[in-house]
Amino acid sequence: MKYSAVVCPHCGRASGVKSEAKTHQCPYCGRLFQTEKAIVLATGSPKAIRQQVVDYNKKLYT
Ligand SMILES: [Zn+2]
Repeated sequence: MKYSAVVCPHCGRASGVKSEAKTHQCPYCGRLFQTEKAIVLATGSPKAIRQQVVDYNKKLYT
């Protein structure tokens, strides 16, 4: 199963979601958004996506 790293349009933080999911609830701000309208950072294995998400969110604080 493939996962995508998407950026929440509401709070700007990245999180992982299954690639086929149409909507995704941001784990940070709790809002629901459509994944096809969000910025997709990467698509791949759950492990790769988790790393992408961690790296992206880390950059927000540096
Ligand atoms: Zn959010």
